[in-house]
Amino acid sequence: MEELIELFKKFPGIGPRQAKRFVSFLMNSNNGYRQDLITGISHINDKVVTCIDCNRKFINYKNTDKCQICTKKREDNKLLILAYDNDIEIFERTMAYNGQYFILGKYIPLFSEKAHEYIDFDKLYKRIENLNTKGLQEIILALNATSDGDYTLKILKENIAKRFPEMKISLLGRGISTGSEIEYADQETLREALKFRR
Ligand SMILES: [Zn+2]
Repeated sequence: MEELIELFKKFPGIGPRQAKRFVSFLMNSNNGYRQDLITGISHINDKVVTCIDCNRKFINYKNTDKCQICTKKREDNKLLILAYDNDIEIFERTMAYNGQYFILGKYIPLFSEKAHEYIDFDKLYKRIENLNTKGLQEIILALNATSDGDYTLKILKENIAKRFPEMKISLLGRGISTGSEIEYADQETLREALKFRR
């Protein structure tokens, strides 16, 4: 029981009390439901891979190393850097962006001096180098307007500028207010933020 509670506590936004409720819910569920859950999770184990281009996780049905978005023909002149896999879908829904993506996977916690433990800079640089050969002109950083987000932004900006001094780096414009998260921004706000990037 304790092990299961510990596992649920690792879910985003889930504390010990909620984790206990999950376990109790599972205990009171029927076998079929639990089996579906086990099958679903083992499916993730077997089929989820990381896209070699954008670094996001996707379910690999077609035995490919690129996700659905990176397989499509898109503009190579812009690279949008986001924190989480889900953020891609949010930007796709705005229909205001047709460039390339890169997913960090994590934020660097405020004041952490071990940025490399959180972000795969090698993969990011490789992605930028590769797009550079195809005419990359701009890197857009679209991170949450939180303290971790701002800190990650600062570290990324410094590192990218050092490595690619010629590259134009822009940030999302007005609309994304302090403390807000991309996940909860509406489409119009994101469209505006993209349009008025600075
Ligand atoms: Zn991809």
